[in-house]
Amino acid sequence: MSTETPSIFSRIIAREIPADIVHETDRVIAFRDIAPKAPVHLLVVPKTAAYSSVAELAAGDPALLAEVVATAQQLAREHADGDFRLVFNTGANAGQTVFHVHAHVLAGGLTEGTLAH
Ligand code: 5GP
Repeated sequence: MSTETPSIFSRIIAREIPADIVHETDRVIAFRDIAPKAPVHLLVVPKTAAYSSVAELAAGDPALLAEVVATAQQLAREHADGDFRLVFNTGANAGQTVFHVHAHVLAGGLTEGTLAH
């Protein structure tokens, strides 16, 4: 059993803190980002805390990564027109602040252009 402090996302999964949850299965949960950067900004999060990054997840459980991607597609269809940008910040120098792997699903009209801030 891990002795590390649970991440904010583990606490959301455990319903210890509230979130606007839009999707949940046995293995993944999705909720709205608290500080949205697009008209639709959802986070798709594997429930396991075993993987801190997408690279670890890809190596350790590729089927779970595939479920994250499929969930992103489904949510983009439900919440926008089906088009979406999928972002996995990986490492602090790339902007990762929560070290429990998660996909940002950005959709709903991304007018700023490819990869621009
Ligand atoms: P990262 O910077 O690690 O790629 O992404 C973490 C994301 O989690 C950020 O976009 C941030 O706004 C979001 N976030 C941080 N704390 C909370 C929270 O308590 N609730 C929700 N819904 N999102 C959060």
